[in-house]
Formats: sequence, C-alpha cells, structure tokens
Amino acid sequence: MKRDRRHFLGATAALTATLAAPTVWGQGSGRPKVVVIGGGAGGATAARYIAKDSDGGIDVTLVEPSRDFYTCFFSNLVIGGFREMASIRHSYGKLASEFGVNVVHDWAIGIDRDAKTVTLAGGAVLPYDRLVVSPGIDFVQGSVPGWDVSAQHAMPHAYKAGSQTELLKHQIEAMPEGGLFCMIAPPNPFRCPPGPYERISMVAHVLKERNPTAKILVADPKEKFSKQALFEDGWETHYGGMIERLGPDFGGGNVSVDPAAMTVDIDGEVNEVAVCNVIPKQKAGRIAELAGLADETGFCPVVPATMQSRMDENIHVLGDATNQGDMPKSGFAANSQAKVAAMAIRGALTGSKVFPAKFTNTCWSLISPENGIKVGATYEATEDKIAKVDGFISQLGEDADQRMETFVESVGWYSGITTDMFG
Ligand SMILES: Cc1cc2nc3c(=O)[nH]c(=O)nc-3n(C[C@H](O)[C@H](O)[C@H](O)COP(=O)(O)OP(=O)(O)OC[C@H]3O[C@@H](n4cnc5c(N)ncnc54)[C@H](O)[C@@H]3O)c2cc1C
Repeated sequence: MKRDRRHFLGATAALTATLAAPTVWGQGSGRPKVVVIGGGAGGATAARYIAKDSDGGIDVTLVEPSRDFYTCFFSNLVIGGFREMASIRHSYGKLASEFGVNVVHDWAIGIDRDAKTVTLAGGAVLPYDRLVVSPGIDFVQGSVPGWDVSAQHAMPHAYKAGSQTELLKHQIEAMPEGGLFCMIAPPNPFRCPPGPYERISMVAHVLKERNPTAKILVADPKEKFSKQALFEDGWETHYGGMIERLGPDFGGGNVSVDPAAMTVDIDGEVNEVAVCNVIPKQKAGRIAELAGLADETGFCPVVPATMQSRMDENIHVLGDATNQGDMPKSGFAANSQAKVAAMAIRGALTGSKVFPAKFTNTCWSLISPENGIKVGATYEATEDKIAKVDGFISQLGEDADQRMETFVESVGWYSGITTDMFG
C-alpha cells in the first residue's frame, strides 16, 4: 500500500482506527458499492437518488454524524421568528426505511484512495467502488483574529445550523435596550452569498419589534455582495437608520475580536458589542482537505460533467466543498450537482444512460414580512467549469404582491428540496 495516498483526520484518529483492528464491512454482497460522506443538501440527495434510481442495484451507505439534520436554509427565518426550529429539522429515517440506504451515524476520519476505503471514527472501514464527498464547509483558523471555535458560544457563527442558530436567536432577543449587534461578514467565496444579508434583515426585524433603539453594524471585507441594491433598498425602507455597513474602504476588512471583553476592533476603533456574529473565512470540510481533494483555494476542483474530483476519478465532490466555477455555494446548487453525480455514478456502475449535465439554482431571501427577493440562473458543464447560461434577479420597485409571491415561492421550494433530500 502506498502510504502517501492514505489520508486520515489526524494522528490520534488514525491510531484509534489501527488499534481497533477494523473490520471491513460490506464485502461480498456482489452489488457495486457507493459510500457517501455527509448527509446534507449534496450527500443526502445523492444517496437517495442513487439508491432510488438503481432500484437496489447499488449498495449505498451514507455516513453522517448527526441523527437530526438542521438545514441552514430557512435558519435565518428561525432567527427572525418566521419559522420554528422543529420545522428545519429532518431525520434520515425514510432514506433508510423507504430507499434502502445504509445510514451510519459516525464521522469519516480517513479515505484510503488506493484501497478505496473510508475509515470511520468508530473503527469500521467501508469499501467503495465510488465515493461521494459532500462535507460542507469548515472555517479557516485565524481568519478573524481573536476568534476560534472555543469562542463560538460568546460570539456565535450560526453558519452550521442547530444549537448555534438557537444561541444567536436567544442572544439577539436578550440584547439590552439600545445595544449594538455586530456581524463580521466573510470574504468570498463562502456558503450562501446572500445569507449574511438576509440575516441582517431578520435581526433588524426582531430589533425593530423588541428593541427599536438598538443598532446593527456590519464589518465586511467585500466591496460588493449578492442582491446588494435590493437589500439596501429594503433596509432603508423598513429599518431606516438602524443598519450601518463598513466595507473595505472603511476598515471592514481590518477586524479583530475579543470575546472575553465583548469588543470588536474595526480598523483601530474599539466597539463594545452586545452580540457579535462572527462568520469566518471558509474552506472545504476537513475530510475533503485531508483526503487530498482540495487545491490551493481550500476547495475541491471537479469535472463539471460528472462532479468527479480532478484529483481522483473514483470520487465525486459536491456542494459547498467544491471549486466548480459559476454556481454559488447553496443548498439548491448542491442538490442540483448531486443529481448530476448520481446519474454519472449509476452510468459508471450499472451502465444506465447518462444525459448531459444541466444545473439550476435560485437563492431566495426574506427582507421583511412577506417581502421576498430572489436571484437565480441555469448552468452547463464546460471543460473548465460549471458555466452560467442565463439568469434572473428581482427588481427594485416591485409591488407588495410580487414580493409576497416570491416569498410564497420560497416556502414551496423549501418543502420540495427537503423532500428531494430526505424522502
Ligand atoms: C444562514 C444560511 C442560510 C442559507 N440559506 C440558503 C437558502 O435559502 N437556499 C440555499 O439553497 N442555500 C442556503 N444556504 C446554503 C446551504 O445551507 C449550503 O450551501 C448547503 O447546505 C450545502 O450542502 P453541502 O452538502 O455541501 O453541505 P451541508 O448541507 O452542510 O452538509 C454537510 C454534511 O456533512 C457532514 N460531515 C462533515 N464532515 C463529515 C465527516 N468527516 N464525516 C461524515 N459527515 C461529515 C456534516 O455533518 C453535514 O451534515 C444557507 C446557508 C446558511 C449558513
């Protein structure tokens, strides 16, 4: 075995796996095997489509540590009080019971690309013919000086949904009268380009109702952001005077935090904050990086037509972890990419027909009650990248009925995509 192609999540994990004398599961069933790492928008969709469309012809195992998956999509609406936490929680029960997916709740800690096996934290080793890697994002250590995950209780990111979402919501609701909410926005590329700005809208909505003298400050390292004119118009109309955004020209990229003192230093000016939402710089989920699938961008280059890794043709990478071209890092995009990969994998393993890859995406955002906006596009696979074909965006000055229709559309999309992921 070539040791340089064995990739583990760290020496301790590798040692644990070795000492545990791992059993290689699933050998000898005769069916081709697909292992999927990560049960989010990309991974759950891929697992479901491969199992469903191969009608039992492919043995699919999904590795995901969480028993319940909380979608990041619509988690901002939970913060705004428009949804309950329970409404964004989903289980893997149907994938197992209705679609025959072998759901294993564990962490993948190593990928041996020569042996074509995945090692789990519990010690098991899963063989694969094709591997799907959809681990989402991790944060770049040190990208916001003063912050690391040990400070995520004092200064939550709420960029992986669940307890972080509830914590941030609680902190906003408990803010002292007239207090300051600060967001440290991330540099490109990052998960959900409109996400931070939809969140600002939701925070402003809550504060307008409960704490109207409170202020919101956004420190942003980017010149521009998604749907900027639409957001800024909405903020002016609905939350006039409450929100201030400092872009890079005003020091928004020169920030450090002190979670113990609850202060934020922006370009040398120290601000006392009641709540600080730190959204750090991002990279592909750690397992993808450690498997040697990421490039110098921190994300994983892929072949657009099949979503195969450019580092290993037996591995398909999906969603936020990819460096693929023009698609934003969104749940809609991950779901769309997963269907392309599922078709390619079935084609390779069972000889089923493979059609040309087509991708779509729409990102909806809520600015204020029933005031929805959207941006979207279709894409095709070229040699180099997933390339945008054509797109659309909500317009300034749309009437309330149009905005309501866009919001209703987003509610229908949420229901559709979560059924597409989890059955
Ligand atoms: C606030 C916010 C709002 C958003 N709103 C929208 C929206 O309105 N529309 C939209 O389309 N998108 C939205 N998104 C983006 C969307 O959530 C992500 O783009 C999408 O979830 C990416 O899918 P994924 O499969 O790449 O990763 P994820 O959905 O994050 O799934 C990754 C999974 O992999 C698992 N995992 C990680 N490492 C391992 C490992 N070693 N072993 C096993 N499992 C592992 C994780 O536990 C996780 O469950 C939003 C994001 C945020 C933060």
